[in-house]
Amino acid sequence: MSDTISAPILNVEPTPVEPLPASTSLRHRTTAVAVGPVLVGGDAPIVVQSMTNTDTADIEKTTLQVAALARAGSELVRITVDRQESAAAVPYIRDNLLKLGIDVPLVGDFHYIGHTLLNDNPEMARALAKYRINPGNVGFKNKKDKQFSEMIECALKFDKPVRIGVNWGSLDQELLTNLMDENARLAVPKDARAVMHEAIVQSALLSTARANELGMGDDKIILSAKVSAVQDLIAVYRLLASRSNNALHLGLTEAGMGSKGIVASTAALSVLLQEGLGDTIRISLTPEPNGARTKEVQVAQEILQSMGLRAFVPVVAACPGCGRTTSTVFQELARDIQDHIAKSMPEWKTKYPGVETLNLAVMGCIVNGPGESKHADIGISLPGTGESPAAPVFIDGKKALTLRGDKIAEEFQVIVEDYIEKRFG
Ligand code: SF4
Repeated sequence: MSDTISAPILNVEPTPVEPLPASTSLRHRTTAVAVGPVLVGGDAPIVVQSMTNTDTADIEKTTLQVAALARAGSELVRITVDRQESAAAVPYIRDNLLKLGIDVPLVGDFHYIGHTLLNDNPEMARALAKYRINPGNVGFKNKKDKQFSEMIECALKFDKPVRIGVNWGSLDQELLTNLMDENARLAVPKDARAVMHEAIVQSALLSTARANELGMGDDKIILSAKVSAVQDLIAVYRLLASRSNNALHLGLTEAGMGSKGIVASTAALSVLLQEGLGDTIRISLTPEPNGARTKEVQVAQEILQSMGLRAFVPVVAACPGCGRTTSTVFQELARDIQDHIAKSMPEWKTKYPGVETLNLAVMGCIVNGPGESKHADIGISLPGTGESPAAPVFIDGKKALTLRGDKIAEEFQVIVEDYIEKRFG
C-alpha cells in the first residue's frame, strides 16, 4: 500500500469575468443645468465646488475666501445666506469679486427663512447664480409647501436654477415618520436604515415634483441627498439615480477633519463616480484650526484626477522610498518639483494649454525607477544606496540624459520647464 498522499485536484477552470467598462461610458444620463456660465450634468465635465465658512455679512472676509477658493479651482462657491445682513452683503461680494477679475458663480445656501430673504432682497436674488433649498427645513406643517413654493417662484422670476439639497441631519421628520409608520404595518417590515434611505430619496423626489408642478423644468434642478456614513451615501445615491435623471451633486456631509475626512469622502465618492453617478462634487472637510479652506478644493480635484475623470495639474508619481534610499534627496526633489508646479500653475494654465495632463516621475532607485520613469512624460531615477551617483532622465519613454553632482534638482527643473515650453507652448 502506498503512503503517498495525493493532492486534491483543484478545479482551475477560470470563471469568465465581464471586462469592466470605462467609467466614463457608464455615466448616468442627467439633464444639464446651467449655473451661470458653468454647466452641471449632461455631458459636462464633473464640476468642483466648495463652500465658505466666513460670516457672509463680513463682505471683505467672504470676498477674500471666495477668491481663494476660486483661484484654487473651485468652479462654483456656496455661501451661507442666513439673515438680512448676509443677504444684503451678497451683491457687494459679487461686485468685489468682479473687480478682482473673479467671475465664479455664487450659490446661496438657505435654511428656514430663505423665502423671506429672497423676497426682501431682489439684488441678492439676482447676484446669486443658484439657490440651495433644503426641503427638510424650508418650513413645517402647512407652511412647508407655501415657503418652498415661494423660493421656487423667486428662482423662476430671476431665471435661476436651484439645488434641492436633502441632508439626513435635517430630514423632513413628517415624511420620515409617515414612512416608518407605513413600514411598521408591513407583514415583513424593512430595516429602519432602508426606510431612512427611502425617506431621503423621497424628500428629494417629492420636492422636485412640486418644483416641476410650479413650472420649473429639470434643466433648472440639481439634486443632492447627503449623509455622513460611506455605505449609506452609496446606497442613497444609487437609489436616487435609479429614479431620477436630475443632475446630481455628490458629497459626504460632515466628513470630518484631516485624513479621516479625506479618506471617507474619497471612499464614498470613488464608488459612486466609478458607477457614473455625480455631476458636481464637494468635499466637506473640517479645516484644521487656521488651516486653508482651499484644501477641500484640492482634495476634490485630486479625486477626479486620480480617477482619470478630469485633469487639473501635472501629476508627480513618486515612490515611497525604502531601505535602498538612505538620503532624503529624492524626497526633497519630489517635494520641490510639486511645489514648483503648484506655484507655476496659475501662469502655466494660460500660457501652456493642456499642461495639466503632464505626468512626471521622481523615483528613488534602479528597482522601479527606470521603468516608472519611462511611463511618465519626464521621469528621473535617482541613485539608491550602493548605486553609481548618476540620475538617468527619461523623456517620452526614452533615456535622454544623465544628471550627476549636487545640482540635480535645479537641472531637472530646467528640463521640465523646457519640455513644457516645447510641448505646450
Ligand atoms: S523604487 Fe527603489 S527606492 Fe523607491 S521604493 Fe522602490 S525599491 Fe525603494
